[in-house]
Amino acid sequence: MKYLIRIDRDSIKKNPNAGRTSYCVPGRAEITLSFSLKKEAIMMQGDLYNKLQDLLGRYEVVNTRENLLTDTTTVEILATCCWEEMEDRAKEIKQELEKDGFTVNSIMSSVSRNIQQVHTLTPEPEYLYQFLETFVQCNKCTEEFSYKELIFNDHDDDDWSGNICPCCGSQDCCEIEYEKIKDVI
Ligand SMILES: [Zn+2]
Repeated sequence: MKYLIRIDRDSIKKNPNAGRTSYCVPGRAEITLSFSLKKEAIMMQGDLYNKLQDLLGRYEVVNTRENLLTDTTTVEILATCCWEEMEDRAKEIKQELEKDGFTVNSIMSSVSRNIQQVHTLTPEPEYLYQFLETFVQCNKCTEEFSYKELIFNDHDDDDWSGNICPCCGSQDCCEIEYEKIKDVI
């Protein structure tokens, strides 16, 4: 017996991206955080840049500027993350700095974000849809199960097997045909 897996009429939607072969996704944002730090004079000895780089590890310290008048240092840190993560990154860095005795006076942030274009080989289909749940029967062990449970093995081009029974493992355990959208619309 041949089973027809029918398209769920209620699920058919016009694909707003029909025909498209490329789309844009926001790339990772490069965030520069500027911290204005105050620290006791005794702690300011040595190479502040290296100290901070050690302390912050994975973040890149891109610039430090000392202001002797106000006894503050502005540190610019480059963090690559998405925009949504920025606040957490800033908090994390602030905590690290405070743990080491710095007082963080203020945090400034600036973001540069790249847009990446992704290309696909097949254009987006005109319609989006789902198939109706359909039960099929194995012609060997006679078990019944959803067509979604059928197993497909795709080893390489020459060694392809499909419609494998999830219960007894026999190949081509039933014959199925998927309804085509062009026959429905
Ligand atoms: Zn079976």
